[in-house]
Amino acid sequence: MKKKLLVDLDYVICHPGFLKILNDFCGTNYKEEDFTEYIIDNVIGSQEKIQAFYDYYISKDGYKDAVLFEGAKEILRKLDKYYDIYICSACVMFGAERKSAKLFKDKFEYLIREFEFIDPEKIIFTNSKNIFIADVQIDDRLPNLQGPVKLKLLFDSYHNKNISDEELEKSNVRRVYNWKEIENLLIN
Ligand SMILES: [Mg+2]
Repeated sequence: MKKKLLVDLDYVICHPGFLKILNDFCGTNYKEEDFTEYIIDNVIGSQEKIQAFYDYYISKDGYKDAVLFEGAKEILRKLDKYYDIYICSACVMFGAERKSAKLFKDKFEYLIREFEFIDPEKIIFTNSKNIFIADVQIDDRLPNLQGPVKLKLLFDSYHNKNISDEELEKSNVRRVYNWKEIENLLIN
């Protein structure tokens, strides 16, 4: 029986278009490196303006200009031979929870378009990622790596660089920096 692998999408498989759309909305030129926290909406300003941004964001397709991480697709295709792959991705937007329906559609269509080898029935959209039992999980957010999974990998990202090795050790999590490293770890 194949081992179960749970893989996050945003900031693990691809950079979604969120920051580009935020820059378009604000007329700014922020880069991921300018931020240290996951939630970056506070640069927009007032709560009213943030809500207006959410409406603008939802009217766009955040995956139209998504950029894949180097090797992500090829290595996932290889991993598919050895692992039962589940994409596990949050779709309910922080701060705009009840407006999130279109994000499910945009994300699902992107996955279907880009990853013909991923079984559509193995796409899980939830913000509650700690309820799953699996052999391996890859995510860029430490709060999502608290469930009963044997090997938990934190994908290095702009917002998790300040998490210390001690903190990772406490959660039994290992940091990985790229897909080549994931390939070396998971296929031997
Ligand atoms: Mg993510």
